[in-house]
Amino acid sequence: MNELKPTENPQSLPSSVYIHVPFCRHRCGYCNFSLVAGRDHLVERYLAALRKEVEQLPVHAELETLYLGGGTPSHLTDEQLRELFALIGERFTWTAATEVTLEANPIDLQIDRSTLFRDLGVNRISLGVQSFDPQKLQVLERDHSPDQVMRAVEMARKFANSVSIDLIFAVPNETPQVWQNDIDQALHLGAEHLSTYELTFEKGTQFWSRRLKGQLCESDEELRLQMYEMVIQSLTANGHQHYEISSFARPDHRSRHNQVYWSGADYWGLGCGASGYIDGWRYTNAESLMRYLKLIESGESPQVHRERLTPLESARERLAIGLRQLDGLRESDFLSRTGFSFADCAAEPLGRLESLGLLAREPEAKNVPTSNLNEIANTDSILRLTDKGKFLYDSVAVEIIA
Ligand code: SF4
Repeated sequence: MNELKPTENPQSLPSSVYIHVPFCRHRCGYCNFSLVAGRDHLVERYLAALRKEVEQLPVHAELETLYLGGGTPSHLTDEQLRELFALIGERFTWTAATEVTLEANPIDLQIDRSTLFRDLGVNRISLGVQSFDPQKLQVLERDHSPDQVMRAVEMARKFANSVSIDLIFAVPNETPQVWQNDIDQALHLGAEHLSTYELTFEKGTQFWSRRLKGQLCESDEELRLQMYEMVIQSLTANGHQHYEISSFARPDHRSRHNQVYWSGADYWGLGCGASGYIDGWRYTNAESLMRYLKLIESGESPQVHRERLTPLESARERLAIGLRQLDGLRESDFLSRTGFSFADCAAEPLGRLESLGLLAREPEAKNVPTSNLNEIANTDSILRLTDKGKFLYDSVAVEIIA
């Protein structure tokens, strides 16, 4: 399989890059990401493979966003992180204007590493907090304590412009009081950005088998909805914008990197399990770390899946993913970017979803020169999820793409 490479004009290359770092101290019971736990002896080999993958790419113009996710990138030692950023620098450049995000476990920010992160250009930190409740953390098999979160945020403040906190809700036996306390604590710490996820039981995880054995119970739908409404209410009342189904941000602190995904723009994904989207092509690298290493070490492409979407498929996907953004999609923008109207993409499903009250279309006067009478008569429209649709987004997306 030939590796996917776009044209070599640096100005037309993607300006966003995701790098996957698949190492964790241990695997949490609910996690199904591509990673290994307790196998740190593989880090150097992984960095060497990543270097080879990066070296296959053309030299790029300055990046808009660089995102290091995992796994746990902060689990790498200072020296390994310097090596990682140096190899990324072989083909990409970033400045203070680039959003450089590093995902971190609070436990890795207990000693002051602010000089290191500042030197590397990291200006946004995404902390896997999940909860401030010791019992809930224990159920989730997390290895940090609430106090360690406080210290981590304090340290992050020394170098990051933006601190994002991830929280999980609807954990077995969690009450609304525990969840409200988690939200309040995150607000108290002044997080500029929050991502809140409902716990899901993914096939292949420990939680999946424990649920099958009756050791863990899923929260009922009414409670999950109540918890989702609680977080929307609390965060928006405190000045955060609910800008994507699971994401909340203070003004000017939205995740620029994630908005690249939701807007259907191009990006590179590098490392095991990473996906990229370039010129209508989507590719995915080998998910298993060992397979990724073997492919690269034997001189082969790590991309194990690649497909070219037709323009209509690509537009349909852009519509489904774009609706995650709660500002909605303006039809005229959508048409000029994709060449298709909403109706071209999914007339029937959209009509059904609107009649079910999951989507709403809001007419908007078109901003056109007054000399063009025909166009003045037209109206533009914005399509967005309703409150009910936010909770049922997965079904909305499936309807549109199917
Ligand atoms: S720390 Fe994060 S990435 Fe690592 S196993 Fe736990 S949930 Fe998964």
